[in-house]
Amino acid sequence: MTKLMRNYCIGFMRYFLLALFATVSLHAADAPKTPLMAGAATSNITPDLGGEVVGGFLPYPCTNVHDELHARCLVLDDGKTKLALVVCDLLGMHRSLCVAARELIEKETGIPAANVLISGTHTHSAVNAIGGPVRFYTSDMELTDFQKFVVRRIADGVRRAIHLLRPAEIAFGTVDVPEHVHIRRWFLQDGKMPPNPFGKIDKVKMNPGAGNAALVEPAGDPDPTVSFIALREPGGRLISVYSAYSLHYVGGVNSADISADYYGMYCEALKRLQAGGSDDPPFVAMMANGTSGDANNINFRNPQPRKKPYEQMRYVAEDVAGKVNDALAKVTWQNSAPLAARYRELGVAWRKIDPELITWAKETEARTPRIQGKADLPLAYAGRVQRLAVASPETKAAVQILRIGDICIGTTPTETFAETGVEFRKRNPFAKSFMVELANGYYGYMPTPRHFELGGYETWPGTNNLEPQASVKMMDALLEMAAEVK
Ligand SMILES: [Zn+2]
Repeated sequence: MTKLMRNYCIGFMRYFLLALFATVSLHAADAPKTPLMAGAATSNITPDLGGEVVGGFLPYPCTNVHDELHARCLVLDDGKTKLALVVCDLLGMHRSLCVAARELIEKETGIPAANVLISGTHTHSAVNAIGGPVRFYTSDMELTDFQKFVVRRIADGVRRAIHLLRPAEIAFGTVDVPEHVHIRRWFLQDGKMPPNPFGKIDKVKMNPGAGNAALVEPAGDPDPTVSFIALREPGGRLISVYSAYSLHYVGGVNSADISADYYGMYCEALKRLQAGGSDDPPFVAMMANGTSGDANNINFRNPQPRKKPYEQMRYVAEDVAGKVNDALAKVTWQNSAPLAARYRELGVAWRKIDPELITWAKETEARTPRIQGKADLPLAYAGRVQRLAVASPETKAAVQILRIGDICIGTTPTETFAETGVEFRKRNPFAKSFMVELANGYYGYMPTPRHFELGGYETWPGTNNLEPQASVKMMDALLEMAAEVK
């Protein structure tokens, strides 16, 4: 190569590299941030009359629909990544239902299954989507007809939300509403603790009775914070508000009614408060359950007068909706939010059952007469512990993190205690964060190790189905995944 040619080549390379650099930097400087898109839709998942209502200790057939059940679906798109958030008016959903719905969504929309969060509200007035007629302990089940129907309706709701994707602004807010959440696990005066179904004395009692003279103090603090993520058309009307509050449920329905409890009423109340909330496409409010395994709506210290059916849940729903609506007026809106998700199934073990407990269960079954339609606690737990003792080896319990801009959601597939949600908010690296329980599966109550020491309903084998370290393992995994997406 001659010197001239070499100089020519070097000159050309310089020119080429400079031009390339200029193009790249121009693009970096000029490229607008991809605007966030959001769409939301609801699918009706009300069962046929005659299905078995699961909220009580014994199931019974539903004879009326007070208000319809829904799968409320929100889809977010940052131009690269899509997330789907679904809240169903159900007591909970078996892992297999959630896996089937998440896979169907991936197949039909391309949204990866790991990016789909499906949770139940914990309304006690819905039919069974958790499992079979008896409580059993497995991570994989063949879906019932109702579960298949819910899977189809969830996927359709997500597809309809995708059709409604449009440019959106996003905001985060919180408002404390302590007046509706009360810890339901109580220390009682010495000698006042009744024996549990296993014939042992616990240190705390669940639902000890409002105004019980033996009350000493509750075994923890409730989480009073309603967290919400709001999406609106730029400068305009709301698209959706995804909220979470740590309230078990309210109840007070006519027996044998189907109802979405306060969760559904909250969504309707927030919609009524929006100008144009019912316009086309309608505003979709959503209320997920935060971490409410140990907190309900009963004021144990100051008993409240008995209310008419639906009166109390309407009161709670409208009060919370009003407070969230006021908080919405003060939020700061942003027009972009990078999205990310992490999903893991953990090696959490099923609750181990000691041989003495199996002996107790067999003896209890042998001596207790079975009376049709009558719940017998020792007999029920005798069955549960024996089924738990032969549970499938792995739980496949799922935890998930969604990053939505500078907001982080962590999920558990259990009835998680208030202090776990508060701990997650304190320890994860996002300033704006909250937890959603009953997500991507249902494994019963998940007390913290401290609560296992205290005993009580939520810790009994058969109400609690996972090892006592489950809450620690899930927290560790959630914090790791939150750090990954930060
Ligand atoms: Zn519950």
